[in-house]
Amino acid sequence: MVKTEIDYKKIGKNLYSLMEDLFPICRSITGNGVRETLKIIKKIIPVEIKEVPSGTKVFDWVIPKEWNIKDAYVKDSKGNKIIDFQKTNLHVMNYSIPIHKKIKLKELKPHLFTLPDHPDWIPYAHSYYKENWGFCLTHNQYKKLKEDTYEVFIDSTLKNGSLTYGEYYIKGKSKDEILFTCYICHPSLCNDSLSGVVLVTYLAKLLSKMKLKYSYRFLFIPETIGAITWLSQNEKKTKNIKYGLVATCLGDPGKYTYKKTRNGDTLIDKIVEKVLFDSKEDHQILDFWPIGSDERQFCSPGFNLNVGSLMRTVYGCFPQYHTSGDNLDFVDKKYLTGSFEKYMDAVYIFENNASYMNLNPKCEPQLRKRGFYDMAEKVDPDPVLVEVFINELLWVLNFSDGNNSILDIAIRSGRDFKKIKYAADALVNKKLLKKIDK
Ligand code: ZN
Repeated sequence: MVKTEIDYKKIGKNLYSLMEDLFPICRSITGNGVRETLKIIKKIIPVEIKEVPSGTKVFDWVIPKEWNIKDAYVKDSKGNKIIDFQKTNLHVMNYSIPIHKKIKLKELKPHLFTLPDHPDWIPYAHSYYKENWGFCLTHNQYKKLKEDTYEVFIDSTLKNGSLTYGEYYIKGKSKDEILFTCYICHPSLCNDSLSGVVLVTYLAKLLSKMKLKYSYRFLFIPETIGAITWLSQNEKKTKNIKYGLVATCLGDPGKYTYKKTRNGDTLIDKIVEKVLFDSKEDHQILDFWPIGSDERQFCSPGFNLNVGSLMRTVYGCFPQYHTSGDNLDFVDKKYLTGSFEKYMDAVYIFENNASYMNLNPKCEPQLRKRGFYDMAEKVDPDPVLVEVFINELLWVLNFSDGNNSILDIAIRSGRDFKKIKYAADALVNKKLLKKIDK
């Protein structure tokens, strides 16, 4: 698996263009929006689409009725559509029950949602487990509403159906799995939800073409109820899941955030921290907390899977979160691409980390006579760089005693993982080092 062969520029374009295709779809935790989304993803990777019927018990929860919507509006007495679902699906409170009646402004107001602090944005609201209806609008729009009789119309259905999710598995040499999961239940919102969906889709596509040590599983599930459903229906599969990441909030300009696994000091925690350290980009590492996305379910004590979350700005911490401000202009191709590279860098370490044994452990081997200086000078004669390479060799030689992986050595030395790996490969070539298969 050679990293330089990856065309990140092309991937960046694909990520953004998939996001443009998915953005207009009205998704929810169930319904045709999820199916349509998975159908588009299926054109890129052969994702398996599963349906779990409404009413199915999943641990302490029950799969709700399926929600679908065709149209919705509020008209004033002159027949002007003052709120129109066709303009943006955020205008309707997600999971609104059907309604068609004429009401006064006073009756309408409790069903309207706005953001007074951001008067130009439409909020995203939902009512999954309590039957209700509502409209979301900008606060500026709201302020213009006059005493009048309004026609409210929501052409939705809430009926027995199913919850839909997608799953894709790539078999590697080992049964041990790494899980990448994202949520496909948000309507027209980009950074929260869709950035993770597009990243996981193209990550799966890229990995499907590689020869891999680990096996990889990719989930496209509605948040919370979808994670609970998957865990409830696939409990046996979880024994192979060694590590995982929840992918979300990956297209905004903020610094990277790694939310650690519940256990906090596992291989994936070390790897993601190292990826961010090596990138030299601004980032923060946070301990696990039981509020957030689907890591809440994967890291619940009955499963306690080593699932963390690599994001940029944490959900809820950017003002556009759950509003119409989280749109195609808020995310940028370059930030999505940067995030994608971090995920691939983490995969690279998973795939290439190993322990080695020094075959000349009694004092240092003489590196010049074995051609290491010539090798470095050929790449770049700058004596500083030559010395850097020699130092990397010495780090690898000294700590390759069977107790340290090259990731451990890279962390301890503060040196780039890829360079330590390169040094290890060079030492293996010169028969000074032997890989220990673990
Ligand atoms: Zn959200």
